[in-house]
Amino acid sequence: MSLSDEDKKVLEFMEKHYPQYKDNLALGRLLYSKYVGRVAKSIEGDYMKVKIKDLDPEMVGTNVEIRGLIGNIEEYTFKACPICRRKECRCAKPVPEDQLIDLKRIRLIVGDESDIIDVLYFVEGKQDHGLEVGKEVVVKGRLKYFYDNRATNRLEILANRIELVEQNDGVSGGGEAIVIEFIRKAKKVHIDVVKKLCERHGADPEFVFKYFEVRDDYVFA
Ligand SMILES: [Zn+2]
Repeated sequence: MSLSDEDKKVLEFMEKHYPQYKDNLALGRLLYSKYVGRVAKSIEGDYMKVKIKDLDPEMVGTNVEIRGLIGNIEEYTFKACPICRRKECRCAKPVPEDQLIDLKRIRLIVGDESDIIDVLYFVEGKQDHGLEVGKEVVVKGRLKYFYDNRATNRLEILANRIELVEQNDGVSGGGEAIVIEFIRKAKKVHIDVVKKLCERHGADPEFVFKYFEVRDDYVFA
């Protein structure tokens, strides 16, 4: 692959400042463009693949892609405007009440091997999204402050798209390690969640429990 002059500069910049990430050209372009004070045109409409631990407030507003397991899911359905997607329509020409649609607001916690993060996702009412605890997903969305609150450094991803990763049933090995790592990062996980994660990864829950304290239906790291 031959690099453009611009990308050669990006590579040079990354080698100097972030050598361990120099192979991530998308990340390099973003960092470099911030460095030289320009808008990152090259990743517009594209998603930057990242590990959760590498997400930081500096990146708020950018499109990111993470891959991990669903550790928790909560959802509720409400009537919303089909255009602005708000409960209280704010369109210039308000949509009449009888034309409102059912919108599902889904709040997830997704974890990869590095950390966990909150994810917010909206889908239309009756649609079966197939998301559940223990499923592996690819989340593509915009990084923002949790509840738009800048006072804390807590972040979340407002997902544009969540794709289920096809399960590879019958392939095991390493399952226990994945679940153990997940609990270590999450610190406290409901016992049913651990069981589902074990099922998903072909791991033996009894083996996993030996590594942690189990009380009041929770597993503590
Ligand atoms: Zn509206």
